[in-house]
Amino acid sequence: MSRTKSIQQVLAPPPPHMVGDGFRVHNFFPNGYQMGMLRMSPFFLLDYGSKIEFPPSDKPRGVGVHPHRGFETVTIAFKGKVAHHDSTGNSGIIGEGDVQWMTAGSGILHKEYHEEEYSKKGGPFQMIQLWVNLPAKDKMTPPKYQAIENSQMGKYQLPNDGGVLEVIAGEFNGVKGPATTFTPIHAYVGRLKPGAALNMSLPEHFNTGILVVEGSLRINDDEDVATDHFVVFQNDGTEVQVETDSGGIFLLLSGEPINENLVPYGPFLMNSRQEIMQAFEDLNAGKFGVLED
Ligand code: MN
Repeated sequence: MSRTKSIQQVLAPPPPHMVGDGFRVHNFFPNGYQMGMLRMSPFFLLDYGSKIEFPPSDKPRGVGVHPHRGFETVTIAFKGKVAHHDSTGNSGIIGEGDVQWMTAGSGILHKEYHEEEYSKKGGPFQMIQLWVNLPAKDKMTPPKYQAIENSQMGKYQLPNDGGVLEVIAGEFNGVKGPATTFTPIHAYVGRLKPGAALNMSLPEHFNTGILVVEGSLRINDDEDVATDHFVVFQNDGTEVQVETDSGGIFLLLSGEPINENLVPYGPFLMNSRQEIMQAFEDLNAGKFGVLED
C-alpha cells in the first residue's frame, strides 16, 4: 500500500536580496529558513528569483567573475535570458524554459549576466539557481557543463491535454531527463493547465520539495499553495499529488541525501575546514583557470 508524503511545511518566500545587480532572489535554504544544512540534501541552496520587471539597460546586469568548488550550480530560466561564461572556455545562453547544469567540481571561475538583447529591451525576469552538493568522492571531478534546452528535456504529456511534465533529471513514468547527476535526483518542471491533476511517485528517503512558480497548486488534496511558495515534504511516504484549478507551473526536486559532513564557506562546499583552506590556496595559485571580467 503506497503512502502519501506528508507536507512538513509550506514556506513563504523570504525577503529578497540582490546577487550582483542582476538577480533579486529569495533564499529558501540554507539561510532563509534554518532547516539544517542537510534537510534538503543533496540540494544545498535554493535561490529563487521571483518575477520582476527589469528596465532596459545597455550594460547587462549580473554577477562578475567568481569561483566555485565542490558542487554543481543549476540555473533554470522561466522569464528572461541569462548569459554565462566560465574559465574552461564554455559559454552559453540560458533561454526561457532552458536549464544549465554546471559541475564546478575541482574548481571553476564563471560570470553570469543578463543576455545582451534581453538586457537592452528589459522585461520580465524569473529564474532559479540551485546548488547541488557532490559526494566527497566526486568533489574534485573535472568541471563540466550541460546546456539543456527545453526541446531536449524528457516530456510527459498529461492525459486530456492537461499540460506537460518536463523531466530535467531522473525519470517520470519511464520518461527520462537528459541531465547526468552524481547522485540519484529527480528534477521536473510541471506546466499544468487549469483543472489538471498529476500523481508523482518518489522514493520515501529522497528529500523532496515543490516550488510553485506560477498559479497555485492543491497538494495531496489538502494544502493550497500559492505562487512563490516552497513546500517541504517529510520522508514518510512515496506519493505526491498535485492539482490546479487556475493552472500552474512548478519545480519538483527530489534527491537521495548525501549524509556526509559538510563545510560550506562562501562559494565553496567541502567536507572539512582543511579542504576549504586548500580551495583558497588553489584559487590564489591560479588553479581555477582564468576568466576576464
Ligand atoms: Mn555562480
